[in-house]
Amino acid sequence: MNVALKNPKSSVGTLDAIAEALLLPSGIDGVYARTAAFEDVVAGLTAFISRHREPDTEVLRFPPVMSRRQVEKSGYLNSFPHFLGCVCCLSGAETEIRGAVERFEAGQDWTPALSPADLVLSPAACYPVYPLVASRGEVPAQGLLFDVASDCFRHEPSKELDRLQSFRMREYVCVGTAQQVDEFRRRWMARAPDLAGQLGLSWRIDQASDPFFGRGGKLMAVNQVEQGLKFELLVPVRSAQQPTACMSFNCHRDHFGAAWNLRGAAGEVAHTGCVAFGIDRLALALFATHGIELADWPKAVRKALGM
Ligand code: 5GP
Ligand code: ZN
Repeated sequence: MNVALKNPKSSVGTLDAIAEALLLPSGIDGVYARTAAFEDVVAGLTAFISRHREPDTEVLRFPPVMSRRQVEKSGYLNSFPHFLGCVCCLSGAETEIRGAVERFEAGQDWTPALSPADLVLSPAACYPVYPLVASRGEVPAQGLLFDVASDCFRHEPSKELDRLQSFRMREYVCVGTAQQVDEFRRRWMARAPDLAGQLGLSWRIDQASDPFFGRGGKLMAVNQVEQGLKFELLVPVRSAQQPTACMSFNCHRDHFGAAWNLRGAAGEVAHTGCVAFGIDRLALALFATHGIELADWPKAVRKALGM
């Protein structure tokens, strides 16, 4: 799989020019206001991905926050504590809240008065699916397919336009037997080159690992690669030499099944897998490849995006 980029095409839009025209700074690294042209492409991508949805897939759209308890139970703090954003609020009696505001108005730090809410910012779109499946009982013999999306947050501030703290993720998720999940992932990895081709993007599929936390995390990442649990579709955004992961194909084996006690009719622990589309990265890849002016994009690409 580690091969040269397919459909090589030089980038026509520099990231600086894209930033100036399409993504406006918010004052915080990795957080941008998106212009109408950028959002038109996002809408086109969203519809494009929906058109490729497999039959019998349940559609769910999640808010940008989710239950802190659910993220804890999913094992996120063991793997990625450095990415998690937790919602904090001023709570307590009126006098306590007023005290915090008064400290702010006096130019002092008011934030020690914050206390964690029972919400976190969703780190990936698929996390809320597993507790939902658990609440419904047995996983049916044919398995389950979901189409989910949410705004995601990961605390990794960066000046690079393809590394955002707040970005949109769309995912197809499979819950079933190990074989069903494996077949699901194979189908999407086989389909991805055609998707990239329709969008006129250069691409390469390669093995990958997640950025697990700390020294112990390095070993987890090595295991993940050895077992072929993560692949990514890489597309030139910053450079052809260092293409950016715009899609990922993930096998979780029984990680979420065990955490949430997801079981089939015979009592066996269910396996799960997901295919993630980085919507903002795909939009950026399109602008980097075809230029800032939508009118100049290849007709076939605009047609694929319904533009
Ligand atoms: P994963 O869960 O595989 O890390 O992320 C799924 C997809 O979300 C990635 O393939 C990528 O397209 C997108 N993604 C992950 N991190 C970032 C990020 O920092 N910025 C942006 N724009 N997209 C990201
Ligand atoms: Zn996922």
